[in-house]
Amino acid sequence: MTSVILKRGRDESLRRFHPWIFSGAVDAVEGSPYEGETVAVLACDRSCLGFGHYQKGSIAVRILSFNRDFIPSDDGRMPLAFWEDRIGKALSMRRALGLPSSATDCYRLVHGEGDSLPGLIVDVYGDVAVLQAHSAGMYLSVDLVSEALMRCSAGLLKAVYNKSSATAPHKAGLDLCDGYVTAYEGQDEGTVKENGNQFYVNWASGQKTGFFLDQRDNRELVGAYARGRNVLNLFCYTGGFSVYALNNGAASVTSVDSSQTAVDMLRRNVELNICQASGSVGRHDAVCADALDYLRDTEAGKFDLMVVDPPAFAKHRDVLDNALRAYRRLNASAIGRIAPGGLLFTYSCSQAVDRRAFELAVFSAAAQTGRSVRILRRLTQPADHPVSIYHPEGDYLKGLMLYVE
Ligand code: SAH
Repeated sequence: MTSVILKRGRDESLRRFHPWIFSGAVDAVEGSPYEGETVAVLACDRSCLGFGHYQKGSIAVRILSFNRDFIPSDDGRMPLAFWEDRIGKALSMRRALGLPSSATDCYRLVHGEGDSLPGLIVDVYGDVAVLQAHSAGMYLSVDLVSEALMRCSAGLLKAVYNKSSATAPHKAGLDLCDGYVTAYEGQDEGTVKENGNQFYVNWASGQKTGFFLDQRDNRELVGAYARGRNVLNLFCYTGGFSVYALNNGAASVTSVDSSQTAVDMLRRNVELNICQASGSVGRHDAVCADALDYLRDTEAGKFDLMVVDPPAFAKHRDVLDNALRAYRRLNASAIGRIAPGGLLFTYSCSQAVDRRAFELAVFSAAAQTGRSVRILRRLTQPADHPVSIYHPEGDYLKGLMLYVE
């Protein structure tokens, strides 16, 4: 079969179960694999180390099977049994976490490398699964993934929506389009519950798969400290943190995002939760603006709880310095303006920025302001976004809960 042969000594990370093979580690390619084909990976002595999705680019192969528990079919794709095995295991883990539950019916079912399925994300919204392929191989397997999802979920799921046109590689010559891939086609939008809070989610027009499920635990935490506080939620998207704060008795909430579509959905989400928050709408302000501009024009001391959750500033390593500067500037502005005794929840979701680098950026931001700042908690992604111990890059969401004197 088509094979990728590694240079001498470049098999070490693979033997430690790291699932990425960089193009610089490849000595030769035997056969002419198509983009996304499942290839065998051989050490220089030709021993087989596993099978994975081949792709042109800096990551040449993403490993699907290290122990060769499954081998590719003649069409260069993993068989249905492989997908059922991996998705079945992912489902079992979510069940062990109590997901879904009566309070939460939206969660991440497949988290790429963390579920031994590099390049694949599956988020569940009620009875619809929204999948996102980040590699050519995953895009070409969408029909199999969808069938495995329907078979394994035992009636939990009614439909699968493919939202990959923005994430699958454009250069791979794939015919990219979004839409339902199951016989049953639902709406593009649904109402979901997260820790008892309600949200509209539109997977066709929304960002990512429609909602940022990775902030579930952090939203709960903000809710727990929101009572009586004047909350500023920067980069609010559709209002995840805002709704929790309102439902938990915040004195006021101001939500800021530069996307008008997000702000429109935020308003609907606040309305949806009015009953629960008893009159919350009067205490909520939705603002479509640039977050840094808004902060600059904000009078110091107006807010005593701030959430700062920007998009990934560093999508690649080569823009790391710029990203760290941006985190510094943003956090200095927030720390400088928060009221004495204020709580700041600040995040970075850039995979290329590790926890230490992020903390250093926030540290220099604090130093710029000269205020006394204490770290109360270090924050991360929830358990349905697992990190393979062999793939530390999966630990992408970093946050700090700070107390500013
Ligand atoms: N906290 C949100 C997720 C934030 S995602 C939640 O809990 O759901 C990042 C958001 O930042 C996106 O909604 C994007 O529209 C917004 N954004 C990007 N650049 C921005 C800017 N310069 N100013 C304000 N918002 C911005």
